[in-house]
Amino acid sequence: MNYKISRRAASLAPSLTLVIDSKAKQMKAEGIDVVGFGAGEPDFDTPQHIKDAAIKAINEGFTKYTPSSGTPDLRQAIADKFKRENGLTYKPSQIIVSSGGKHSCFNVIAATCEAGDEVIIPAPYWLSYPEMVKLAEATPVIIHTSDKTEFKVTPQQLRDAITPRTRLFILNSPSNPTGSVYTREEIKALGDVCVEKGVLIMSDEIYEHLLYDGATHTSVASFSPKHFEHTIIVHGFAKAWSMTGWRLGFLAAPEPIAKAIDAVQSHSTSNPTSFAQKGGVAAMNGPQDHLKPWLAEFARRRAYAHEKFNSIPGISCVNAKGAFYLFPNISKLGLSSMEFSAKLLEQEKVAVVPGVAFGADDYIRISYATSLENIKKGLDRIEKFAKELAK
Ligand SMILES: *Cc1c(COP(=O)(O)O)cnc(C)c1O
Repeated sequence: MNYKISRRAASLAPSLTLVIDSKAKQMKAEGIDVVGFGAGEPDFDTPQHIKDAAIKAINEGFTKYTPSSGTPDLRQAIADKFKRENGLTYKPSQIIVSSGGKHSCFNVIAATCEAGDEVIIPAPYWLSYPEMVKLAEATPVIIHTSDKTEFKVTPQQLRDAITPRTRLFILNSPSNPTGSVYTREEIKALGDVCVEKGVLIMSDEIYEHLLYDGATHTSVASFSPKHFEHTIIVHGFAKAWSMTGWRLGFLAAPEPIAKAIDAVQSHSTSNPTSFAQKGGVAAMNGPQDHLKPWLAEFARRRAYAHEKFNSIPGISCVNAKGAFYLFPNISKLGLSSMEFSAKLLEQEKVAVVPGVAFGADDYIRISYATSLENIKKGLDRIEKFAKELAK
């Protein structure tokens, strides 16, 4: 049987981060001593009060369909969060709860982009953005950046990339994969360009709470009513509450866009899992004191890894100010990021993600969402690997 796969689906490659993560897990299951730096999720447990709320919801029979865009209490709790933490006033009708932040991104692109539209994506980018744009039959337009500018695009680069076909600019600060964080002034300057040119911004703020060295987060929506009108914020519970497996994310959008997304979602996934949403309410409205020790632990690991990378001949690494990734430059070692990662896994049993997956072949991505002990072991192996390559 010759199965025909649609052009849209056939143009996609499976998420390389998930592929590498599962390969490392499989090697581990076979008893091989693998150090995994591939994970895109915190290694901490979901806080207990959040689990309790979901368990209670199940026990009370909260196991049926909910409104497709989320329960009223969760949408209200999210609107309250935007008011409290970001100074943004959204009506609950402007909040859509989805099955993960990834699903929220997908919905935004599906509801706003079509064939002929261009979507501007700074590289290194989160690897799903361009694939989602292609699924919508729109065209990704990549702006390349490097470690020399801490992986940040300038307003001039953005201006130069905008054409009459530009529909969306994707901003992700703090960034996956680089951990880079734009300053308030830098965010405003990019927002100003989009407002002037009438370009929508999809602002992926899922790492908002994971910041180091005094870095702060400002939502691009918060600068003026015009900025607010031009912005769709994507967010979720996965990272700051360590709820990756719960599949719960959300977005905040201008009313007409929220309505369109509601329609898309109502015909695809319908509501996100009912009892997961009760966990979401507890996450939003409950204590946030789990974060401080997590951040302290992440900061300790980041400091160690950053210093160690820069001590390895042939590797250089700018320090990240957010998220839980480092993005060291390995280009001096003479291998493509794919060859580097494949050989490293094979020879030294260390799993990293090649930068090419994020549109930047000179780098690899390391997640430090793993114990300091693992980080030390893994980086010693990378050091040995790099020294042999340099011979
Ligand atoms: C993890 C992540 C998300 C969302 O993940 P979900 O598990 O779908 O909630 C969105 N954007 C970026 C950049 C991420 O790293």
